[in-house]
Amino acid sequence: MHPLPLPSDTPPLFKDLFVEPEEARSILRPQKDERYGFGFALSPYRGCGHGCRYCYVREYPNALHKPEDWGGWVAPKLNAPELLWSQRYKLHQARVFMASATDPYQPLERQYRLSRRCLEVLLLCPTTEVIVHTRSPLVLQDLDLLKAFGDRLSVGLSIPTDDDTVRQMVEPHAPPIPSRWAAAERLAAAGIQVTIGVAPLLAVHDAQAFARRAKASGAANAWVGGLRLLKQDPFYRILADHGWLKVLDTNYKEGIRAAFQEAFPPRKRKREARVETASAHTPAVVIQPGLFDRVG
Ligand code: SF4
Repeated sequence: MHPLPLPSDTPPLFKDLFVEPEEARSILRPQKDERYGFGFALSPYRGCGHGCRYCYVREYPNALHKPEDWGGWVAPKLNAPELLWSQRYKLHQARVFMASATDPYQPLERQYRLSRRCLEVLLLCPTTEVIVHTRSPLVLQDLDLLKAFGDRLSVGLSIPTDDDTVRQMVEPHAPPIPSRWAAAERLAAAGIQVTIGVAPLLAVHDAQAFARRAKASGAANAWVGGLRLLKQDPFYRILADHGWLKVLDTNYKEGIRAAFQEAFPPRKRKREARVETASAHTPAVVIQPGLFDRVG
């Protein structure tokens, strides 16, 4: 199948990315909402080269960039590992989510290695649990490091659709869907707990086959998260133009959710049992904060 042509306002490609290294003042963002199931969000970058067209982080206040520049600039936090090291006293028996407003394995990570170096710090915090969340198979470059965490680390892979032509329209600079499945398989085969995040839910071709594919990847679990759009979000126009407004429909979301529940029937997992013992209020499934609403 030929890919659909990209819209004329697609953000610039990686080679045109504005890279703006900076010294961050803080690195651990406390997460007070217990529904998310972690204590701190850790983002080694500001901005995101994946430039997903629905990502409302683009609207976060920014003195230098307009929302329409989203995906065209990234600020690597050069001192992130050192800052994290100096703050590690906060991390005793805490859970860290990496990352909430960027992708820790966006293309620049190949060069800057900030996510890797932050993980090396976290590895030295023996009571800290880590959730790495990404859209990129680049996470595999750190496979040995991820394995060194044992069962205190899990990887979430966002796979919001089973149709890569949809992905090409809405996540034009994020890796293709087949490469994400391959990453999930390799991570799971290496013994790493993998969660598939169907988030934010986009147009799906075959819900049952999609859910079976997720199960066959070796993922331990999956969740479905709905789109969260801003008032007068330009993404409405994209949804309307492609006949995808159904993704905002509750019945549509419930149908996808049911397919995944069938593929991943609820069961008590050892890791979840351990977490629940540590904190009676900590949910077993973690969601990407601020970006998507969980619907399953
Ligand atoms: S949704 Fe995630 S991967 Fe996509 S642009 Fe936003 S932060 Fe980056």
